[in-house]
Amino acid sequence: MKSKVYFKSISSSVDRKECLVGILNRLKEDLKEFEQGEIVGIKTTIGDSGDVGYVKPELIRLIVDELNNNKAKPFVFDTNVIYKGMRMNAVDHLNLAYSKGFLPQKLGCPFIIADSVFGTDSKVIKLGLKNLKEIRVPSLISVLENLIVVTHITGHMLTGYAASIKNVGMGMASRAGKQIQHSSLKPHVIKNKCTLCRCCVNICPAGAISEKEGKSFINASVCLGCGECISACKFDAIHINWQEDVNKLVERTVEYAWGILSCIKRRIFINFAFDITKECDCMADDNPRIIEDVGIFASRDILAVDKACFDVLTRKEDVFAKHQNTKAHLHQFTYAKEICLGHLDYELVEL
Ligand code: SF4
Ligand code: SF4
Repeated sequence: MKSKVYFKSISSSVDRKECLVGILNRLKEDLKEFEQGEIVGIKTTIGDSGDVGYVKPELIRLIVDELNNNKAKPFVFDTNVIYKGMRMNAVDHLNLAYSKGFLPQKLGCPFIIADSVFGTDSKVIKLGLKNLKEIRVPSLISVLENLIVVTHITGHMLTGYAASIKNVGMGMASRAGKQIQHSSLKPHVIKNKCTLCRCCVNICPAGAISEKEGKSFINASVCLGCGECISACKFDAIHINWQEDVNKLVERTVEYAWGILSCIKRRIFINFAFDITKECDCMADDNPRIIEDVGIFASRDILAVDKACFDVLTRKEDVFAKHQNTKAHLHQFTYAKEICLGHLDYELVEL
């Protein structure tokens, strides 16, 4: 069976707002399924403090207005992250969100952090898939019936390509759930490359890196597997097993997405292919664009929307393939199909 994916391209005559209006006009009937009085969660991410690539509140407002017109009750949400920065607890996270314009008067609805002040709201949901027997998610997930996932497409330092599956699987997990997904990563220092610049020591959220015999050393029993040190090291001195470790991480994220979506009745996924950067929105600095703006994709099928978006973006060149790891960004599609997260076959409906 082919899933429908709607696509509105951006051009000199169609700006971002018009692009989204085109998509929302096509989704009118789907949005009406979110009936009067029903609470609808809109999942997005605001990015790190210096990041500018996130989907802006002015655009999300258009989705909120559609829902408000249908007398549904939307709210926008994100969850706390496991690494250092302003999204590690809800107080700093909300202050950052407000500074980026995620305010009720701009959004037309509330913005909340779904997993509590310290990210400790972590309910266990039984799963029984290949890698994970259970997942840990904010308790909201077990009662939320309506979900719209708003995703800014980016590259990713570990998995290569980050879209709706990543936004749901990793982005809707509790902090404990995020940690479990990353626990397959076991970074280690290549001693002869390490200059002891200490960038990794300073960035590590777990305090897992110290000096040992004039080089940095990672204590594997303390490491969270967040991968921050890998991107922080400018000397390519921190390595992981790209094939095995990253494929395992990808599979866990896909399993989380499967578990989360199996709890939620009505779902729509909207991928924004604008300002596509080499790394994800958690990386603010030195994050170059890798491809021209393309447009917006939307579907009821999370796998179809991610694959269609990927196919359009890589028509000329696979900009998401990493030199160390050419398969993880493709493995997420293969594994998502294997566990029936969605369909790889899609019909691209250009609007
Ligand atoms: S960032 Fe790289 S070079 Fe610097 S201390 Fe860490 S491992 Fe060594
Ligand atoms: S050692 Fe690296 S991967 Fe492990 S917690 Fe620290 S920054 Fe994250």
